[in-house]
Amino acid sequence: MTATPDIKYTAAELAEEQALTGQAYAAREDGNVPMFNGEDKQTLAERITVGIFVGVPLVAVLFAIPFAWGWGIGWSDIALSIIFFAITAHGITIGYHRLFTHGSFKPNRGVKIALAIAGSLAIEGPVARWVADHRKHHAFSDQDGDPHSPWRYGDSTIGLIKGFLFAHMGWLFDVEQTPISKYAPDLIKDKDIARISRLFPLWVAVSLISPAVLGGLLTWSWHGAVTAFFWASIIRVGMVHHVTWSINSVCHVWGKHPFMTRDRAGNVAWLAILSGGESWHNLHHSDPTCARHGVLRGQIDSSARIIELLEWFGWVSDVRWPKPERLEARRVAPRGENAAA
Ligand SMILES: [Zn+2]
Ligand SMILES: [Zn+2]
Repeated sequence: MTATPDIKYTAAELAEEQALTGQAYAAREDGNVPMFNGEDKQTLAERITVGIFVGVPLVAVLFAIPFAWGWGIGWSDIALSIIFFAITAHGITIGYHRLFTHGSFKPNRGVKIALAIAGSLAIEGPVARWVADHRKHHAFSDQDGDPHSPWRYGDSTIGLIKGFLFAHMGWLFDVEQTPISKYAPDLIKDKDIARISRLFPLWVAVSLISPAVLGGLLTWSWHGAVTAFFWASIIRVGMVHHVTWSINSVCHVWGKHPFMTRDRAGNVAWLAILSGGESWHNLHHSDPTCARHGVLRGQIDSSARIIELLEWFGWVSDVRWPKPERLEARRVAPRGENAAA
């Protein structure tokens, strides 16, 4: 890794981020936090390898659709898949991630409960489990202790392939679990969240069964129920999982680094729509509590749009929208300016 530039945190910002993520935002003696400025480059071979792992399964699903059209998939399956994808993916991005992990806004009770349930329907585990893992990820991002860094086996091509697969899915099988009592005590104390977490098996059943029921009713056939179960339950859950996991794998290997972070988190434009704006992951690691991740011109962030809408209805408050001076302080200086500064 090349020399890391420094970023000045105000005492208040540092306290806020330390309260959020624990020990790892520790500043050095001079009050600065060492930051990664995104100058490391990976080779073309590495990028192609990673692209094959990520792209082939997605393309395979798309190619399956025309083969199955007319007998194995129809419009009701497509519609149900998109609706259930949108609800559950945003349950993760707005609920599990921006609200419960990072406290980017304050919801009323109804919104809090709805988001916890929508996130649970994604079948990525109960909310406190997910939040604990993700807070630990921020606390140790791309260093020892990160539950899913693609860099844990080094930056050789083989190491990166191994690390990529680990960050994408392998970490889920890790025996070592993040202690919830340490990383998500606030959620354990919340009675609504505790009840929703205990009911997790119910949300799994609802998520898998309701598309089949709706598909059956829409087409008034058993056949419609079966195809809806295949596409809007099984394939949809798989797609949501892979998109979430891609933030951990793809966005910590690839992407642009307009903002300074302590890790390798990058902004990956082609994942922005599928991930509900979460692939602007470089900004997210640079300013974790910010409610909008796509802060630069033209960066699509549907999760931020929905939070805006909820705020407009008066259902959420204290939204941490991006502050220009905060963003400016985190911008990577254009080449050459580092030396002059
Ligand atoms: Zn990350
Ligand atoms: Zn995060």
